[in-house]
Amino acid sequence: MQALSKLTDNTYDVAVIGGGIIGAGVARDAALRGLSVALVEKSDFGSGTTSGSTRLIHGGLRYLEMFDFGLVRMDLRERETLLRIAPHLVKPLEFLIPFYGASLWFRAKMRVGMMLYDLLSYDKSLPHHRMLSAAETLAEEPSLRAEGLQGAAAYYDAQVAMPERLCLENILDAERYGAVLRSYTEVVGAMRESGRLQALRVRCTETGAEGELRAKVFVNATGAWFDRVARQTGDAHPPRIRTTKGIHITCERMNHKANVLFSPVDGRLFFVIPLLGQCWIGTTDTDFSEDPTVVRADGEDVEYLLRSVEPFFPQVRKLAIYSSNAGVRALVKQEGSASSVSRMHSITETQPGMISVLGGKITGYRAIAEEAVDAVSRQLGSGAPCRTHQELLPGALAPEPTGGAEALQRAVAREHCWHVADYLLRRRPTAFAADQGRGEAETAARLMGEALGWGPEQIQRELERYRAEADRALQYREEIPGMRFSG
Ligand SMILES: Cc1cc2nc3c(=O)[nH]c(=O)nc-3n(C[C@H](O)[C@H](O)[C@H](O)COP(=O)(O)OP(=O)(O)OC[C@H]3O[C@@H](n4cnc5c(N)ncnc54)[C@H](O)[C@@H]3O)c2cc1C
Repeated sequence: MQALSKLTDNTYDVAVIGGGIIGAGVARDAALRGLSVALVEKSDFGSGTTSGSTRLIHGGLRYLEMFDFGLVRMDLRERETLLRIAPHLVKPLEFLIPFYGASLWFRAKMRVGMMLYDLLSYDKSLPHHRMLSAAETLAEEPSLRAEGLQGAAAYYDAQVAMPERLCLENILDAERYGAVLRSYTEVVGAMRESGRLQALRVRCTETGAEGELRAKVFVNATGAWFDRVARQTGDAHPPRIRTTKGIHITCERMNHKANVLFSPVDGRLFFVIPLLGQCWIGTTDTDFSEDPTVVRADGEDVEYLLRSVEPFFPQVRKLAIYSSNAGVRALVKQEGSASSVSRMHSITETQPGMISVLGGKITGYRAIAEEAVDAVSRQLGSGAPCRTHQELLPGALAPEPTGGAEALQRAVAREHCWHVADYLLRRRPTAFAADQGRGEAETAARLMGEALGWGPEQIQRELERYRAEADRALQYREEIPGMRFSG
């Protein structure tokens, strides 16, 4: 672990709490504007909600129905920006919306929605939508149930298979521009002078060492942990966010395309998507008030997804289910059903010296970060313009090795990779292998041990830590009797 001293020796222009995609985006934007920047993340970078998402870079057709045109337009513009600045991570993906028992009104509504989606992305590089007959739909997605199929709408969005790397590349680029960033370092308190926040009390979660992180302005980008961190920094305001849980499962590939489906259980929209050679199904949306750190898919969540998919892909229950994934959304607090709450973010000064980011999506992270750094710059009296819409992320400039010893040494030497779990579950797509990397764990632990000077006991502890994290994603198995699982 790196010593805290470098972090706590200076007074920065801005200190960011939270190393998910939004905090990482804020750090990169501020560093590119020439500000001095620090960032602390209590766990591994990108290990929070960023790794629990559906992994789409999308305007969100669903939000059109909620008349959230501002959000859809912003995200469609950002989709184009990300396709440009991170082409190695963000890829175009074609979606089908198959129609079964759909009234003329529903199909007409879908068509208008598609036209509006094209209109709101008038500056896009992706193809426009198409309407398909039943035969054309089956030619493109042969595993769909043929009986009752009326046709489909086809349209393009984009996918980020590894949002963890999108996050990490923002971290690494911020570092390249002088930012000081520390994972496994949590905020545990705050110091004020004349009513204004002056410093955060930070603690290394590995060594227990504590120090003071001083800055002129602070940014709370802790997503689903927002209200907890606000309280820790002395903010007594009632909760500002609503937290909801969403889960996904991965199973053997049965689909060619990404599919948008409506659950027969409750009418909610969900996805069946190709992801890293597997089929990725999700998500759910249920209120969740526990600590987001302990979120996991339970048997009921998985059963809901299977019951939702089955009428469209009847073979799903015969396939091997490999694993699950869960995340906690942070939505700006509103009443109503979880799915009906707007995904629009909000940026406010929640206490003197603290700019807070509430809500938001991965898709809009760069624009959200720009807005947050604009607010920071106003406080600092700095007029440097944002550059993140122009500057490519580092992996787009020089492709990095994706596996083998070279990737592992690189991860340890340059990518803040401190644990076997960091490497297998977030630096590489191993979490999506049928065994979630279990077969590679011993070799990875031995090689990391050589690089980081671990003894045999530490190697054993690292393996246990990795297995505990990987096993949490399989815990639902004990809650669904008679189901076929791989591994
Ligand atoms: C099921 C689901 C599906 C989604 N699908 C999509 C999608 O397809 N497309 C899309 O654009 N968006 C999607 N989203 C939304 C998107 O994932 C989130 O908006 C985004 O990841 C939030 O990023 P963040 O940086 O705010 O939060 P996080 O990634 O959670 O980062 C916050 C960080 O703060 C850290 N932290 C907490 N407390 C402290 C502390 N005391 N000190 C230091 N650090 C601390 C946490 O460890 C965490 O890493 C989805 C969300 C969910 C839950």
